[in-house]
Amino acid sequence: MQNELQEKFRLSVLSLLGVVSVLGITPFVFIRYFQGNVLAAIIDLILVLGIVTLVGYAVRTKKTRVVSWIVAVFINTGVYAIVLANGVDSVLWVYPVIASTFFMVKPIEALGINICLMVACVFLPNVFDVISLVSFLVTLLMVSVTTYVYASRSEKQLRLLESLNTVDELTGAFNRRALTSDIAQALAIAERKKTPYMLAILDLDHFKMVNDKYGHAVGDEVLKDLVAITTAKIRKYDRFYRFGGEEFVLMLPDIPNQQAFIHNLSTAIKKELKTPDGKEVTVSFGVASWVPGTTADSWLKNADDALYRAKANGRDCAIFSDD
Ligand code: GH3
Ligand code: MG
Ligand code: MG
Repeated sequence: MQNELQEKFRLSVLSLLGVVSVLGITPFVFIRYFQGNVLAAIIDLILVLGIVTLVGYAVRTKKTRVVSWIVAVFINTGVYAIVLANGVDSVLWVYPVIASTFFMVKPIEALGINICLMVACVFLPNVFDVISLVSFLVTLLMVSVTTYVYASRSEKQLRLLESLNTVDELTGAFNRRALTSDIAQALAIAERKKTPYMLAILDLDHFKMVNDKYGHAVGDEVLKDLVAITTAKIRKYDRFYRFGGEEFVLMLPDIPNQQAFIHNLSTAIKKELKTPDGKEVTVSFGVASWVPGTTADSWLKNADDALYRAKANGRDCAIFSDD
């Protein structure tokens, strides 16, 4: 789920660029050809075909980051080549290329690519005896810098939106929306690579009593502490979600010894998760491993059934659904 908004954004920008370049550049393939500038026509054709191929590849593979980079470098090089081949007549194309680079790569990267293009432009022959080099560079720089400022702000807002969309406000764990999206991804990976994924539902024991005895604010602190303790114990590609209330979900790929992992986590929680007067707060675990044919619903249900048995078993324990 992380970066999903950014991926979608990049993919839609790439698709839009594909459409715009086909509509905008294709007529010039013919115009240049009939003007007798075959080289410029060929460069335009290569640009259109290259962009369409790369965008198609990104749509198919979802490798938007790397394709965006290639497209950014490709169009910057392409516009330089076209101005070389066609001279001052094509120089205005540099402006949309400078601006659209910011839609594809990170603002600072786009600025770097733009500066390389601007430096290269200084050496263009047959252009600056018609237009002023200084005016050209200053206007390019203005477009580049203002787009940089705008793109940097947009990037920050997108990151904030992504965090609001995926992170639980109280605890900082991922939220249920992120879980729904990640489960679908995990199922696809598990099916393809036969990765031994494990999903565990954790439920605080007698949490209502903690709230009743110490107040809601202390209850909130306990929830935050549980997330801090658990997050410190898991690996960077493991995920911890707040499922709702005082229930959490752990999703872990490739755990060699599932029983030992849960035992260690539960021991750490027992040792570290305390009420203000030092009383232990325990957790019950319901664990379900991925097996072929698992769906999101069956996975959560198996873990939930196991959790129910852990509660019935006296709490403060872990039950594995295949036990
Ligand atoms: P069990 O051992 O069977 O799980 O008992 P329990 O008391 O933990 O379970 P129950 O479902 O009866 O109570 C859950 C409590 O969690 C009730 C609810 O007020 C509390 N809770 C849910 N969300 C929050 C929250 O965001 N903050 C606080 N402080 N309490 C919450
Ligand atoms: Mg509970
Ligand atoms: Mg509960």
